[in-house]
This record gives sequence, structure tokens and C-alpha cells, in this order.
Amino acid sequence: MTEPKHGIVLGGGWAGMLAAHVLARHLERVTVVERDVLPDGPRHRKGSPQGRHVHVLWSSGARIMDTLLPGMIDQLLDAGARRIGFHQDLVTLTSHGWQHRFPPRQFALMCTRPFLDWKVRERVLATGRIAVRQRAEILDLVGDTERVTGVRVRDMDSGVSETLEADVVIDACGRGSRLRHWLTALGLPPLEEDVVDAGIAYATRVYQAPPGAAAGFPAVNVAADHRLREPGRFGVVYPQEDGTWMVTLSCTRGAGLPTHDEDFLPYARTLRHPLVADLIGLAEPLTSVAVSRVGANRRLYPERLDSWPEGLLVLGDALAAFNPIYGHGMSSAARAAAALDTELQRSGTGGGATRRAQRAISAVVDDPWIMAASKDVEYVNCRMNTTDPRLTGGVVARQRFSDLIADRSIRASAVCDVVTDVISLTAPQSELASSGFLSLMQKDRVLPELTEPPLTPDELALVKLNPRSTVGAGGS
Ligand SMILES: Cc1cc2nc3c(=O)[nH]c(=O)nc-3n(C[C@H](O)[C@H](O)[C@H](O)COP(=O)(O)OP(=O)(O)OC[C@H]3O[C@@H](n4cnc5c(N)ncnc54)[C@H](O)[C@@H]3O)c2cc1C
Repeated sequence: MTEPKHGIVLGGGWAGMLAAHVLARHLERVTVVERDVLPDGPRHRKGSPQGRHVHVLWSSGARIMDTLLPGMIDQLLDAGARRIGFHQDLVTLTSHGWQHRFPPRQFALMCTRPFLDWKVRERVLATGRIAVRQRAEILDLVGDTERVTGVRVRDMDSGVSETLEADVVIDACGRGSRLRHWLTALGLPPLEEDVVDAGIAYATRVYQAPPGAAAGFPAVNVAADHRLREPGRFGVVYPQEDGTWMVTLSCTRGAGLPTHDEDFLPYARTLRHPLVADLIGLAEPLTSVAVSRVGANRRLYPERLDSWPEGLLVLGDALAAFNPIYGHGMSSAARAAAALDTELQRSGTGGGATRRAQRAISAVVDDPWIMAASKDVEYVNCRMNTTDPRLTGGVVARQRFSDLIADRSIRASAVCDVVTDVISLTAPQSELASSGFLSLMQKDRVLPELTEPPLTPDELALVKLNPRSTVGAGGS
């Protein structure tokens, strides 16, 4: 039997580029098919509307990116991205109160999404083994219920359609993927889908940070308290690679959002603490407000089909997309790319390999799925269509336990370390049920509750705030 030679990746976003890079290690040729023109700089594009809002790349995803593309983290940091140590470099009001700034165990990279995508794309394409077909739209998969043998694409300039043949096809079309439709068109039964929709929306403006603050001031996060049983409002001020602050206000269904510039600051004042409003009140806005309805937590279950066509894979948001407030989408896609690499190394590319790889990829989305979905079902007005027993049963007991962990984690350093490993997708969620963790919950030293944001005098001076002005109404 001859080894597969050509792989096609549908979609040239974050997941598509990492998947193409992995495929190129195992196949002779790889083609990425993308509807947009991919910019040769840090510029916005239509197919990536999320690029106008804050993005963090958790350490788990950053480390995988750096393994696939050695030196990539340093390259991003050298070009201005910020490395935020959790929780030393973050001042955060969680649902349970202000988080103590414990020494960092994990980190996140903060920079604009167009910058991150561009830098990673440049490195991936520099290998010269990946061709990009731009302004080409995927119409259908080609093949039958047993095997996918290619895709039909339409050139968006000429309008001409053609079939591209491939040994492996990876759907990385993001939330806009039409995979369910494509599969039924091949004669397969409908792919099962779960949806948990808290009605998340984002509104974002970019501000010029005060001098020195872009590098010397922590990232700021003010979260909602789901226990209040009212629509949640959130706000973050995150430093970017170009010395700006990106400020995103977000909400769950029913809390509305500012759509006009003049409403942005007043809305920030309605958060549980005025810190975000105080910071942007002092900074110069550089952009108008950009608003997006983000979409639900949504997960497909290819592994549940009796037979999955050989030669086909799905990953990234096309497989599972999450409420972005948890910052898991890109790391989850990176984990999927790593799982694909491991599986292709182990089994090669022939004889059932893509079926096994799909099972491995589907397994890595389970933790981010359950973390996001189980939190979101707690918000009022959340809509769901799921048969996941972890979401439909035992809600009260689960909520009580996760509230206990959240309460301890903001004040107890060793507990916080384990929780941060889990939320950064570095450790499995099952860690929180281990006997070691349960004993830590009892033994770890619990520090006093913080009633104000834990900012140092030097940090306050940088943004010209005095300690009294950071004392808010709802600090704990
Ligand atoms: C507002 C917002 C904030 C977010 N914040 C974070 C965060 O902080 N951290 C984090 O990790 N994740 C975050 N996410 C999630 C993150 O953006 C996604 O997980 C990530 O972009 C997924 O990558 P992807 O390649 O699967 O999809 P995408 O990035 O959406 O890429 C899909 C690509 O496919 C192309 N495409 C689609 N359909 C076709 C077609 N028919 N033909 C040809 N091309 C097509 C599109 O043009 C696009 O280039 C956020 C998401 C949103 C919406």
C-alpha cells in the first residue's frame, strides 16, 4: 500500500495552520484552502471577526505552539506580546472575591489576535511545504460513507468550481463549518451535537495605556458572580503588543452591552467593581466600540458515529467551540494538533489511522467543554440542548463543590496552583477530584479575604490612581 501524499486543510485560521504544520511532517504535500486573503501583517480579516476582541493564549497552548514551532514564544515576546504570570501579573475579581497574587505557576500570552495569527502563520508557511489556496470557498466533501477523497472548492474570483483530491482532509473551518451538512450529503447519519448557550456577547475598545503602564501594570479582570442569579457582566483590561490596552466588556444573555462609544464607560461602571472604569476613564480611546455575539458552547461527537469516513478529521472550533471568557479555544486546538501529531507518529497515515486520530482529538476537547458548559448552565437565561449527564443531573451538588474550590483557590496558594493547572488545560480536570487535592483543600493555609484590588503603590502611581479610588462596592 502506498503512503498518503496530499493533505488538505479546510480553513487557514489558528487551528488550520497548526494542523497543516503537523500534516506537513507526515505527508508529502499540504494545501490550506481559505476563503479570505491572509494578510502579510497584523491586520483584521473578515473570516476572523473575533480578532477585534481580547485573546489570551494559555500556557498549555503556548507550550504546544512552541514545541511545534521552536522559539515561537520568545519570538512573540520579543515582538511585544506580554507574558502574564498567573496570578502575579493579574488583578482579578473572581465570582468569589479578589484573588491573592500568588507566585506564578502558569502564564498566558497577551497580544492582539491578528498579530498572533500572523506571526504563527509566517512561521508555519516559512517551511515552504504548505501551499495556501486563498479566496477559495469549500462547497462539499468528495467521497462516500467509507472514505473522503477530496473537496469541491469554488474560486471566489472566477466563480469556477473544481475538485481537489486528497488522502487526508481536515475540517478547520471554525464555528462556520458545515460539516454536519457535508456528512449527511455523503450519506452518513446526522452527527450528534450538544449546545449550551449563555448568550455571550463582547464589546471592545482599544485605549492608549498611560506611559509605563503597558509593561508595568498588571492585567485586570472583573468577573460576574453567577450565584446572584442575574445576567452576568464582565470586564477586562489586557495589555497588548503595541503598548495599548484592549478593554473588553462582556455579558451573558439579558445584560445588554454598550454599542455606542459614549455608553462604554458608563457600562464599565456597572461591573461589580469600578476598577476597569477607573482605568479607562484615565486612558485615551483609540478605536470605536466593536460588538460581537459570540455564539454558544457547541460540540460535535464524530466518535459516536458507527462509522467515520477514513481520510477525514475535524478539529478546532469546527469540532468544539467554547464560551471565550475561559480562553480555551486556541489551547484546545493546539492540544488537538499535538494529539494528531502523536497519533500519526504512532500509526502512520494508513489503515484506520485517521479514525484513531479523530478519537484522540475528540478526547482532548472534553475538559474545556465540561469546564465551560458546566459554568455557563449556572447563568440565568442559559439555553441548552444536550444529553451530557454531567450537565443535566446533580447540578446543585456539583455547583456547591465548585464554589468551595473557587472560594479556597483565591486565598490558598497550593490549592490555587492546582486549579490554575486545570484551568490553563495543563492538568486534567480529574485532578480536582484526586485525594491529593482534596487533602490540600483541608490543609492549605487560607489567607484573609481581600476587600480591595491587590495593587501595589507603584502600580497605582503608574496609572495615577490613589488607593481610596480603587475601593469599590462589591469587592468580595
Ligand atoms: C470574541 C472571542 C474571543 C475569544 N477569546 C479567546 C481567548 O482569549 N483565548 C482562546 O484561546 N480562544 C479565544 N476565542 C476562541 C478562538 O478565537 C477560537 O477557538 C479559534 O479562533 C479557533 O480557531 P479555528 O481555526 O478553529 O477557527 P477560526 O479561527 O474561526 O478559523 C476558521 C477559518 O476558516 C475559514 N473558513 C470558514 N469557512 C470556510 C469555507 N467554507 N471555505 C473556506 N474557508 C472557510 C475562515 O475564514 C477562517 O479563516 C475567542 C473567540 C471569540 C469569538
